[in-house]
Amino acid sequence: MATVTEKPSKAFSRPKIEHTDCFIDGKWVPAKSGKTFATVCPATEEKIADIAEGDAADVDAAVKAARKALESGPWKSMSARQRGRLMFKLADLIEENFDEIAALESLDNGKPIADSRAADVPLVIQCLRYYAGYADKIHGQTIPIDGNYFCYTRKEPVGVVGQIIPWNFPLLMAAWKWGPALAAGCTIVMKPAEQTPLTCLKMADLAQRAGFPPGVINVIPGFGPTAGGAIVEHRGVDKVAFTGEHLTAQIIMRNAAESLKRLTFELGGKSPNVIFNDADMDAAIKGAHFGLYFNQGQCCCAGSRVFVQEDIHDEFVSRLTAMNRERRIGDPLDPTTEQGPQVDKAQFDKIMGLIEKGKSEGAECVTGGVRHGDRGFFIEPTLFTNVSDDMDIAQKEIFGPVMSVLKFKNMDDLVTRANNTIFGLAAAVWTRDIGKAHKFAASVRAGTVWVNCYDVFDAAAPFGGFKMSGQGRELGEEGLKPYLETKTVTIAMD
Ligand code: ADP
Repeated sequence: MATVTEKPSKAFSRPKIEHTDCFIDGKWVPAKSGKTFATVCPATEEKIADIAEGDAADVDAAVKAARKALESGPWKSMSARQRGRLMFKLADLIEENFDEIAALESLDNGKPIADSRAADVPLVIQCLRYYAGYADKIHGQTIPIDGNYFCYTRKEPVGVVGQIIPWNFPLLMAAWKWGPALAAGCTIVMKPAEQTPLTCLKMADLAQRAGFPPGVINVIPGFGPTAGGAIVEHRGVDKVAFTGEHLTAQIIMRNAAESLKRLTFELGGKSPNVIFNDADMDAAIKGAHFGLYFNQGQCCCAGSRVFVQEDIHDEFVSRLTAMNRERRIGDPLDPTTEQGPQVDKAQFDKIMGLIEKGKSEGAECVTGGVRHGDRGFFIEPTLFTNVSDDMDIAQKEIFGPVMSVLKFKNMDDLVTRANNTIFGLAAAVWTRDIGKAHKFAASVRAGTVWVNCYDVFDAAAPFGGFKMSGQGRELGEEGLKPYLETKTVTIAMD
């Protein structure tokens, strides 16, 4: 089995596409409508495969299968420990197919294979193993209430869960959702993003090989308003977990109101990354570069507002400029590539539009600001200085390789400005002064704060947003809670 410690020297070959249909009740079936849509390689703009375009009819079949699997059959009667074993087996199968899965992710999403191998696939395996270990450790309490009663709580699966995920970390977002749902004993109807269905379908195949009973995991590829909308409105779905844009979450919340579904959201951000003049400059500059340009800037927690203390501003900008100019942009399947294309034409156009807005609002574009090459959705690493807090590039989530640098004087001026956003997903601070670090961590309204590091993820550490960046948390023990109902049982003892 390949691991990330090996350093391949030549480009990975294009992986085989085995599954393009819906996965319902343990079977691969075309969409009932017979429709398909193309998934496109963002590096070449060529079609990779035609994928079944699921809609309300397919979602209905998947929800019925998930309901049946929840209420009768082997999943319901299986011990919690056996559920955990199936999850460990799935993680093992992903590990056995490590390079093939990494290549599939890079082909469909455009992310560099070095990143798929170093981050996406290992974190998927870690997440499934983390929650596999939880399966037999979920339990209620006994509660001392007044009177002669025996009172206890049971933790039961919330039921059939609809899971709608984005395209920026396709397989990892699937693992973040499957892990806690399966550990809790729920059954799943998942809709992957229309841009990147391939690895989720592959994971469904591996789940079947691992031995998950039919109906426990169902995957319906398709579009948001149709397949996604049908999941949100279906009366047989007890909870929806969604990761994507806050504007989509608003639609989902409205559409879920009728059935009062449980909802959890992991949404966008405009995260402040703060560099004080006492920071380790080498580490801070590398951290700021990685914190924004990683994954082509397509991270909900991207450090897109970099606040730099005024006396180190010029040094920061000139060193970051040099790093941007050296960044290797190219074929996602080449192991030396550092930056791939944006995921599709719509994202490319949106990012280029915001870059133009930044220029017209008077920010200075120091690097990039233009397309890279003439094929594929590549954008040069872009750096804006002279950015003010009210500009669109400092307020809107760009979701691309576009950094805004903002100067600040001191902590007092900084905290209000860092919090001047509708979002609150993540923040980071670089300083050698532990007091400053704690003060900033306590004052910033964000779900995650990194000190002298960025994008440190672990399946055990909760992640999610304040404000319009989300509701609820994923990962860790917190991430399990939305998948559980608490039932209180009270027994008269005489
Ligand atoms: P992005 O702009 O990053 O593509 P979206 O929020 O549009 O983010 O998409 C994230 C996921 O939400 C995708 O799987 C998409 O198909 C789905 N989606 C989009 N619109 C809706 C909707 N109205 N209802 C349910 N799901 C949707």
